[in-house]
Amino acid sequence: MGRHSSADVAVVGLGAMGAMAAWRLAARGAGVIGFDPYRPGHDLGSSHGDTRIFRTAYFESPDYVPLLQRAQLLWRLLEKETDAELLTITGGLAIGPRDGELVAGVVASARQNDLPHRLLDASEMSRTYPQHLLKKNEVAVFENEAGFLRPERAVSAAAARAEALGARLMIGTQVTSVEASGSGVVVVTSRGRFEAEQALITAGAWTPKLTRHLHLPLKVQRQVMGWLAVTDPAGFAPDRFPVFIRETDQGGVRYGFPTTDGRSIKVAVHHEGSDADPDTIDREIHRADVEPIRDFTRENLRGVTGEVVDARVCMYTNTPDDRFIVARDASLPGVTILSACSGHGFKFAPVMGELMAGSLLDGRAVPAIIHSA
Ligand SMILES: Cc1cc2nc3c(=O)[nH]c(=O)nc-3n(C[C@H](O)[C@H](O)[C@H](O)COP(=O)(O)OP(=O)(O)OC[C@H]3O[C@@H](n4cnc5c(N)ncnc54)[C@H](O)[C@@H]3O)c2cc1C
Repeated sequence: MGRHSSADVAVVGLGAMGAMAAWRLAARGAGVIGFDPYRPGHDLGSSHGDTRIFRTAYFESPDYVPLLQRAQLLWRLLEKETDAELLTITGGLAIGPRDGELVAGVVASARQNDLPHRLLDASEMSRTYPQHLLKKNEVAVFENEAGFLRPERAVSAAAARAEALGARLMIGTQVTSVEASGSGVVVVTSRGRFEAEQALITAGAWTPKLTRHLHLPLKVQRQVMGWLAVTDPAGFAPDRFPVFIRETDQGGVRYGFPTTDGRSIKVAVHHEGSDADPDTIDREIHRADVEPIRDFTRENLRGVTGEVVDARVCMYTNTPDDRFIVARDASLPGVTILSACSGHGFKFAPVMGELMAGSLLDGRAVPAIIHSA
């Protein structure tokens, strides 16, 4: 197979991170070539399942907030450039023990960054959001700038916009390796070898396989999302039922969304999934997958039935400290790895794309909070 003409940046994997990076790189005028075995917006990686939470008062660390505010602007820019509805602001509820990590973290993040928010105790919650059942020791924080994103639509919109700006996207093309070549790289694929000045590896759950020699501390986890029927869909509409995350007494996290289909709400368990390999992952849904979701809704939500109308399997790619991996390959100059998931990366995707463009084209450093230790 012959060599193909060179690009400034080759993007390996056109999921959330790769499609957004291709968009931001192409917007800067870089020559971009992108590869993916599947069409952007597919349901075999980590960016499917109809909705993703967007939130700004980040309990994980107040240092994320400026990045999230920038991400929000970029989500709106992508909406404008592609005429797609991608982000719906509903407000967001963080519910949990008063002294728990979630509530304290959201309040600290909101206070430090002057974000509009409101504390609600159990009786205020029962008046304002009667869908949620709170115990005496539990409170909620409502933050204004939270809502949900539409992942499949967003990834395909970013890829389409990148193409419109001149990127060449090779769909149906699997990358087998990236090698050094003169001052740049050669991307070896199922459809030939492609030269580029630099490569950005954004292969999500497949990143550990493509970067085996780096021994990155990544663990892929099988995660199940469930859709449960509700008795009064109007009570779970986006204007009545904000997105929520909830810390359990045992320190686990559950989260959920308003209805988008007019009959059910999506609820899921954060982490707690089994280790997985993206090529052999069990994509069947088992009783044990939906039981924890059913148990949670039965104990904590009013008006949600036990009827599971849909359930889907997805993958987290986790680092030990739940931050993202942004790394240069010391053995391969010109190769950067962006693996940003740990189960909370989607909302950051456009800002990560912008940071990658700044890093690859201008040599700018990315903020420390993004790096895994
Ligand atoms: C169930 C679930 C719920 C989540 N909830 C939230 C949430 O509410 N909010 C939030 O912000 N984040 C959330 N996340 C995290 C977020 O969705 C992920 O961080 C993000 O989608 C990961 O994007 P990615 O680009 O790294 O991976 P992907 O989107 O999976 O992209 C990787 C791409 O690489 C391609 N690829 C793989 N191997 C190769 C190869 N050899 N050659 C070429 N291409 C290749 C794949 O086909 C794929 O398209 C959730 C994740 C899951 C699974």
